[in-house]
Amino acid sequence: MADRDGLIWLDGEMRPWREANTHVLTHTLHYGMGVFEGVRAYQTDGGTAIFRLEDHTDRLFNSAHILGMKIPYDRETINEAQRTAVRENDLSSAYIRPMCFYGPEGMGLRADQLQVHVVIGAWSWGAYLGEDNMRCGIRVRVSSFTRHHVNVTMCRAKANGNYMNSMMALQEALRDGYDEALLLDASGCVMEGSGENIFIVRDGVLYTPDLTSALDGITRRTVISLAAEIGMPVVEKRITRDEVYIADEAFFTGTAAEVTPIREVDGRTIGSGSRGPITERLQGLYFDQVHGRRDAHPEWLTLV
Ligand code: PMP
Repeated sequence: MADRDGLIWLDGEMRPWREANTHVLTHTLHYGMGVFEGVRAYQTDGGTAIFRLEDHTDRLFNSAHILGMKIPYDRETINEAQRTAVRENDLSSAYIRPMCFYGPEGMGLRADQLQVHVVIGAWSWGAYLGEDNMRCGIRVRVSSFTRHHVNVTMCRAKANGNYMNSMMALQEALRDGYDEALLLDASGCVMEGSGENIFIVRDGVLYTPDLTSALDGITRRTVISLAAEIGMPVVEKRITRDEVYIADEAFFTGTAAEVTPIREVDGRTIGSGSRGPITERLQGLYFDQVHGRRDAHPEWLTLV
């Protein structure tokens, strides 16, 4: 990732990609206390547009607020910087990664003498879980690792350190030949993937876990809105592992993963063992929405 052409926004200015560096004694590198976002921009008829930019930036500021971190820029600057990062790298579609981190100003755990730095990178990134899998679906393993407890790590924050748990789960799933992990919460209920929220379908109704220790996903919110707009009932509730096994359909949602069908969980086939019809419909609506092919929600698209 480091050795390529392009520009990265770092602390208020665009820098050459290879020179957007920080010292090895950067605080966040040692302790994981930082916050970030994952945002996508898509091609639309009017040009490249960032999807739900304001919502992602709000979540970034909320994440920082939860961690007690003060971002030294206002929302407008962070929004503008994301547009600039896409534009100046000549990207027609992009994955955008803003991150706020503590720098190398000290190594003790107290944060009051540290500075908050902000970096925004943007690059081209295709289907996160594979192009074919968007049609065929992925194979998922329920993780032996428990998702965060609400009073251990702060689950409303998209915080760097929270992703150690995600990576352990994903590593285990990949090692066992699966594509992705499904994590259960401390009470044993289904929570989310390593970087996705989950939905299941049963008898034409969509179910998704209520947000206790899952991230409040923006794609999750989008899918809930899209389902409501086509009159499909959505229920947020506690979901057990065996409910997923007997679902008619299941899918993951995320900015990177978009709407990815799940065809198997723990060796059990889900529904027909491929992308189900409701998943396909919502996936289609999602792509229409992000590419600006729907009239609804023009406020979700910000041209770069
Ligand atoms: N859960 C986790 C743990 C994630 O990392 C992500 C990706 N940001 C999501 C859910 C989905 O969130 P979003 O739809 O906002 O990308």
